[in-house]
Amino acid sequence: MTGILTGIKRMEIHDGDGLRTTAFFKGCPLKCLWCHNPESSGFSPELALFAGRCMACGTCVGFCPEGALSVGERVELNRDRCRTCFACASLCPTEALYPYGKRYEAEELVEILLQDEAFFRAGKGGVTLSGGECLAQPEFAIRVAKSLFERNISVDIDTCGFVNRRVLEDILPYTDTFLYDLKAMDPMVHKACTGQDNGRILDNLSWLLEHGARVEIRYPLVVGWNDGEAEKIGAWLADHPRVTKVKVLKYHSYAASRYESLGMACTLPQTETTPEQMARVVETLRGFGLTVVNGMEED
Ligand code: SF4
Ligand code: SF4
Repeated sequence: MTGILTGIKRMEIHDGDGLRTTAFFKGCPLKCLWCHNPESSGFSPELALFAGRCMACGTCVGFCPEGALSVGERVELNRDRCRTCFACASLCPTEALYPYGKRYEAEELVEILLQDEAFFRAGKGGVTLSGGECLAQPEFAIRVAKSLFERNISVDIDTCGFVNRRVLEDILPYTDTFLYDLKAMDPMVHKACTGQDNGRILDNLSWLLEHGARVEIRYPLVVGWNDGEAEKIGAWLADHPRVTKVKVLKYHSYAASRYESLGMACTLPQTETTPEQMARVVETLRGFGLTVVNGMEED
């Protein structure tokens, strides 16, 4: 069984407790306006072109079997012709052409992740399955999580919660902590920000809490879009006291070049969370008796 990833990041300290290696699964059922990882949105391989890195050496052009590349001052890519074989990206000396989407067998990925086992043990961490939405590749994610669990490795699941309940039931036994996104309580606000309302997300979160899951909430604060949701989020979480903590994540709009590299329209709101706005929301949530982490103070 194979799954598709955009990358693996080692020595992470923001993706759960301790020192962790994070596997970024490709594909997500939500379309968040503020997504910083547009390469994780689709489920198929994609070729990115970072034109500013191209030195017009021409190496890539002759190796494209589809004639999708040409070079003048910089390389140009005809996406209609590209079949994402990634032959060009493997030759490009500057990573101007960059492949997103590599397939792994489940045990192959586990063996790669286990290369960091000594760091997990020393750093009291483990592996985080993230994305994209890792649970949108359910059988693959469950197989990887189970295999790591059986080797006594902590597995955290970073999820948007817009998944089939059955998948949560199946992965819960192998999960240490769910890093669970909560973006808005108002279904219309949620839909405007992500393309989907939050009914299933809240139902799944309630179910996880009722079934003893360890859950850390992630609230990405995008002023002008979901900052008005803090009171409602606080009130809902106060009614669900098993949540271990809430982390408020700051927002900036620096990822525009990634959208451009993939030929995607940039949806990033042109705003940036200020320290004052973060502090205000953190205090609002603490007013509900919650343990709250200011993501800005962690950087
Ligand atoms: S990924 Fe393959 S088909 Fe696409 S431009 Fe590169 S070499 Fe050509
Ligand atoms: S190989 Fe890389 S640097 Fe050279 S022309 Fe192609 S994209 Fe540009």
